[in-house]
Amino acid sequence: MSVRYDDVLGWIRKFASEIEANKEYLTQLDAAVGDGDHGINMQRGMSAVIAKVDAEAGDQDVGALLKTVGMTLVSTVGGAGGPLYGTLFLRMGTAVTGKSELSPDDWTAALEAGVAGVQDRGKAEPGDKTMIDALIPARDALKEALGAGATFADALGRSAAAAEQGMQDTVPLVARKGRASYLGERSAGHQDPGATSSHLLLEAAAETWGDSAEGSGDHEGGTNG
Ligand code: ADP
Ligand code: MG
Repeated sequence: MSVRYDDVLGWIRKFASEIEANKEYLTQLDAAVGDGDHGINMQRGMSAVIAKVDAEAGDQDVGALLKTVGMTLVSTVGGAGGPLYGTLFLRMGTAVTGKSELSPDDWTAALEAGVAGVQDRGKAEPGDKTMIDALIPARDALKEALGAGATFADALGRSAAAAEQGMQDTVPLVARKGRASYLGERSAGHQDPGATSSHLLLEAAAETWGDSAEGSGDHEGGTNG
């Protein structure tokens, strides 16, 4: 079971449309603890990404595609979020350079590398009330599910659910990184915008690939209950 170039492109498109649909919501969340630009930052970045990938009509290299996404985000989005998401995609791309499709292990390696990149760049730890609080549980749930023999679709679903839980768990936290940290104790009681957009990213993967994992690829047989 693996995701092909077009599936990865489908995930990027789904993320862009989820960002578009949640632009106001992300902006409201960021208005409470930051400067109210996370929705517009991400929307600007992802629409630039879509324009870029449409123009490039890919060579089937998933790694190159993800690096293009990352470079576009770095160059079009200001603030903290853009460079952090840019780094996430750049490192993901580097982890799967030259691959035309991703196995579950490839996706795990990509997510691990991406999360490590966000931490290298932003120095956030779990509990600092950042996107890391959604990404790390998602990464760990993915590994745990695959290690326990779950299907890729199921592992993606559990990864997205862990991101959602991590996102919700940012509410009571006091921010220790980024603009929200300027508020100190007053940052508690609000959901982190970056953790929210990161949940959308993982949910988009589960929704896009969950279906393709069920509906395409090899017929493994015996998996229907
Ligand atoms: P800015 O804070 O510059 O306005 P955005 O509003 O686009 O940038 O993004 C804010 C989000 O970025 C936060 O909600 C948080 O999740 C994330 N973030 C900020 N600083 C860091 C960091 N050092 N490490 C990880 N994520 C961070
Ligand atoms: Mg902001």
